[in-house]
Amino acid sequence: MKKMLIGGEWVAAADGRSIPVVSPSDGVAFDAIARGGSAEVDLAVKAARAAADGVWGRFTATERGRLLMKLGQVVAEHEEELAVMEAKDTGKPMATARNDIKVLSRYFEFYGSAADKVHGETIPFLAGHQVSLVREPLGVTAHIIPWNYPAQMLGRTVAPALAMGNAVVLKPAEDTSLSAIRIGELALQAGLPPGALNIVTGLGEEAGAALAAHPGIDFISFTGSNEVGTLVQQAAARNAVKCVLELGGKSPQIVFDDVDVERAVPIIVRAIVQNAGQTCTAGSRLLVQRSIYDQFVGRVAQALSKVRVGTPEMDLDCGPVMNPAQLKRVQGYIQRAKDSGIQVLAEGTVQSGAPAGGYFVKPTFFGAVPRNNALACEEVFGPVLAAMPFEDEADAIALANGTDYGLLAAVWTENAGRLHRVAKAVRAGQVFMNCYGAGGGVELPFGGTKRSGHGREKGLLALEEVSTTKTLVHFHG
Ligand code: NAD
Repeated sequence: MKKMLIGGEWVAAADGRSIPVVSPSDGVAFDAIARGGSAEVDLAVKAARAAADGVWGRFTATERGRLLMKLGQVVAEHEEELAVMEAKDTGKPMATARNDIKVLSRYFEFYGSAADKVHGETIPFLAGHQVSLVREPLGVTAHIIPWNYPAQMLGRTVAPALAMGNAVVLKPAEDTSLSAIRIGELALQAGLPPGALNIVTGLGEEAGAALAAHPGIDFISFTGSNEVGTLVQQAAARNAVKCVLELGGKSPQIVFDDVDVERAVPIIVRAIVQNAGQTCTAGSRLLVQRSIYDQFVGRVAQALSKVRVGTPEMDLDCGPVMNPAQLKRVQGYIQRAKDSGIQVLAEGTVQSGAPAGGYFVKPTFFGAVPRNNALACEEVFGPVLAAMPFEDEADAIALANGTDYGLLAAVWTENAGRLHRVAKAVRAGQVFMNCYGAGGGVELPFGGTKRSGHGREKGLLALEEVSTTKTLVHFHG
């Protein structure tokens, strides 16, 4: 049973409870994690406060940066071990898991190297006064992350918080806590002082809810579903605590009649099957100009029908979905679409030899999906692509903006004017032009508009989210 990291010590839940760790590839439990709750969250928040007010708080920015860069190096040295662990825990193909660990290492490197480049400002003011604006850590930051990219999500949210000198309490997803625990060990090895990083494992409604509501935190970053995001924001509001929400998406691929077909098709297929579609930025809506609709959708169908699903060791295009609830959810969307008579344009295959107990779903491509159908508006969080035709630029923009979400979008056209007009009109936190996907784009500010959330992670903007300013006014006569 894996223990939790609190104040530099490895501890079990006070009441001894645990949660089994199940492999999505075969449905078999192979380990267990501690089921922490409000008591452990309380200890972790206190340990974080002690670190922020103590040794960790006295680290200079350069010292913090060096330490994070060292941790990035240590992670890189353990890439294969961490990738095997992550693949087993999530079911994702080994190639994807290796890339996730590379990105994790890059987060520590990027934010480590940025730690001492955050400078203040001076502000012209009244005669005889010197005014400076300094940036300071928030104090204790709380981070709740989902199960789709456990290691990447940890790096994305924890690295900037530590770089700015905050002390962190992390609640990983109950389905996928193993890599976080191992990273906790590596962080201590790299020299992170006790209490700077605390990891409480457990259920969302227990440990997660207790962390979000804890009066001792100064900030919360939540990545996950809209339903839980709302609860977290309510809890944060009760304590007047700032919160960053990274929620769902229903991102459109907007394809005009002058698209570079050879370039676009493989990228569009990958954007929906990657991580078995369990990616907040999955390109789940394929909007195609009517004049090329049949032809283009046919090419995508051809490519999608070659997609193969299997275990991490098979290392194919995608793995199983995360758990039985997710399997049921995704299969439900597929079945309801079939029942309502929407045509299946293509299906991938589950590789023979994939264990019968695994949570495998055949990637499925539907079209033409009616604009008011669930597949056109709701996040499936599985490998399901919905094609829809549009008439012209104005119709494409209306359709692209026609959901509650606004996370990512892509525009495909060789017409530069159209590319930029559409990119400007689409409501999304990131717009890709003739390419797709943030993936490892550690440098690129990322986050939602509309119901996809608020606040920014990644890039240098993330450092502003996890810090505050103090205005110093000095009268010197
Ligand atoms: P989820 O909301 O069920 O769980 C996310 C985390 O919240 C987990 O750690 C969970 O334990 C915790 N949690 C659950 N209930 C809680 C509660 N009552 N209080 C506090 N914490 C609680 O989400 P999920 O199913 O793990 O992830 C899928 C969702 O996450 C999708 O909607 C996806 O789009 C979204 N997501 C968004 C991004 C992004 O960057 N925008 C990235 C990845 C996933």
